[in-house]
Amino acid sequence: MGPGPSDVHSRVYRALSTQLVGHLDPEFLAIMDNLQSMLRTVFRTENRVTIALSGTGSSGMEATIGNLVEPGEKILVCVNGVFGTRMCDVAERVGGRVVRLERAWGEVFDASEIRQALEGDPDIRFVSIVHAETSTGALQPLSELGDICQEHGAYLIVDAVTSLAGLDLRVDEWKVDACYSGTQKCLSCPPGLSPVTFSDRAVEKIRGRKSKGVSWYLDLNLIDNYWTEGQRVYHHTAPISMNYALHEALSLVLEEGLENRYARHASNSRSLVAGLEALGFSMLVEDESKRLPMLNSVRIPDGVPESDVRSGLLRDFNIEIGAGLGPFAGKIWRIGLMGESSRRENVLFFLAALETVLKALDTGVKVGAGVDAAMALYRR
Ligand code: PLP
Repeated sequence: MGPGPSDVHSRVYRALSTQLVGHLDPEFLAIMDNLQSMLRTVFRTENRVTIALSGTGSSGMEATIGNLVEPGEKILVCVNGVFGTRMCDVAERVGGRVVRLERAWGEVFDASEIRQALEGDPDIRFVSIVHAETSTGALQPLSELGDICQEHGAYLIVDAVTSLAGLDLRVDEWKVDACYSGTQKCLSCPPGLSPVTFSDRAVEKIRGRKSKGVSWYLDLNLIDNYWTEGQRVYHHTAPISMNYALHEALSLVLEEGLENRYARHASNSRSLVAGLEALGFSMLVEDESKRLPMLNSVRIPDGVPESDVRSGLLRDFNIEIGAGLGPFAGKIWRIGLMGESSRRENVLFFLAALETVLKALDTGVKVGAGVDAAMALYRR
């Protein structure tokens, strides 16, 4: 119940142990075709270039920014947590001129301030932003940003590592040009692949680069030759077993249905929050509509020994939750309810365990009401 990796379904573990075939074997190519089609459904896109990159979510960050941004081009990076900060680093490494738009950690950006930034600097060619900031639990609204970017001739790059398959995300409708994710969050697959999708205009921009991208391994033009039906040119050996696993994980997502999956994440988060609030905790993100359902960030009251609680949960209950990062170190916990881990029994078990640990540590927190409050919401 941390910020990922989440629990993995037994069908996905079974898929991982399936007999290997080669990366150009017709059976594997058929799996790739299916994978692409399922990824398009989950990203809600018709983008031809929708693939699973080798490497964790960070490979998607490097591939989107690194393929799109050419040396000297300006990129507006929205920074309100760890992953926006990391985007700046990645963009600088590929020679981009980074313009930082900052918000306090835990807050999100208004479309109007992004519009203003673009109006103020016509040289900006890209806007990159994190949909679900895992370091804070804040949910960034995206629906207006694609239009704003297109009006200003800019490309929109979105980090959906934590949101994909747990939260409404519409790549085509919201005019996102490049979007990347990871397998180990709401897809509930082990870490190791990064689903990415590029709009046709993004692909055109990459095709028309004046210079080669700095990474050979993540060069989209080369990788696309391997993923495109009819071409299938060897680039690097595909991580076969991880692709099997993702194929199965996506099948599970689609069997449940995207809307049902979003609703399950929302409902479990609401019950968890009700339980925490009944115990006297408050959520870091005050506006309910801007809270992530898969990553619940809660303030730690004075007098509660943060690491003792986390180690008590792990030692006595085998529950792992996330600590705060950066300015929130020691100040918040990050409780994950992602994919397979987003379950009623996890919420109730966690709250019961937390109450027990808090009681044993003599923290002065009024215990006893957490499970009741969560259960009352589930019964409604
Ligand atoms: N972006 C976000 C929002 C994340 O939460 C993470 C990982 O937690 C990453 C990027 C990096 O992904 P990975 O650790 O899989 O490389």
